[in-house]
Amino acid sequence: YTPEIEPQPTWCPGCGDFGVLKSLKGALPEVGRTPEETLLVTGIGCSGKLNSYLDSYGFHTIHGRSLPVARAAKLANPGVEVVAAGGDGDGYGIGGNHFMHTARENHDMTYIVFNNEIFGLTKGQTSPTSPKGHKSKTQPHGSAKTPIRPLSLSLTSGASFVARTAAVNPNQAQRILKEAMEHDGFAHIDFLTQCPTWNKDAKQYVPYTDINESEDYDFDPTNRAEAQELMRETEDKLYEGEVLTGVYYRDDERPSYQQEKQQIGEMPEEPLAERYFDGDYEWERSYDQFIDKHK
Ligand code: SF4
Repeated sequence: YTPEIEPQPTWCPGCGDFGVLKSLKGALPEVGRTPEETLLVTGIGCSGKLNSYLDSYGFHTIHGRSLPVARAAKLANPGVEVVAAGGDGDGYGIGGNHFMHTARENHDMTYIVFNNEIFGLTKGQTSPTSPKGHKSKTQPHGSAKTPIRPLSLSLTSGASFVARTAAVNPNQAQRILKEAMEHDGFAHIDFLTQCPTWNKDAKQYVPYTDINESEDYDFDPTNRAEAQELMRETEDKLYEGEVLTGVYYRDDERPSYQQEKQQIGEMPEEPLAERYFDGDYEWERSYDQFIDKHK
């Protein structure tokens, strides 16, 4: 399907979401994926518009629920490249439970969290990554809450690939997205995206250090303890005005959820999507049952 008129993004001028779109458009051909082989599942928020602007299959779900939909799609049709996306409120707040358990089970997909430290679409309310003391309409005296630690939470929950990048550098973001999509397992990217309309104070604009390229950060991303220590330092420094980015952790040995299911004989050889949509009896049987039930 090729739309005659390509939809134009309605994000505000200067929004970091443009950087996510640009880097994703650059990374997909690099991993050799066509639009027909790609599914982009989004939640609710400014980030949720992402699949309207990418020429691939898309599923705009409800708030915080992109991950269960993405999991189901990948299990039913493992040949599809599945990318899920949402904001920091959508992913770490409303969908926090799904985030933890999708990471724990190591489902094979890439999860992009647009982290602009507020709820953007609903006009700037405090989110799980807003810094302590941040003033908004919902917290006019300043947030009393310590922000969530997204990288540490991801690692502790069981993600096998954890990275942070920033929309101000789409080149680095494209590199990290490519690595994440090539990784077999749950790849989480905390993507710093500036919101010039509602959160001018966020540190998403300041120059960043790439920990994979800087000589100041000599560490091994396959070493869990080293990654954990560097993540905590990164999360603290963000709110002090220093931005560190890069791939923090990767475990290429751990089997994905799907691989583990296949090993114990619980995953059919033939993908579910092919069983149901090749016109075989399974599809007809389920259709007949549905019709009978609703007569
Ligand atoms: Fe981007 Fe913020 Fe505008 Fe939403 S409100 S489109 S996050 S700048």
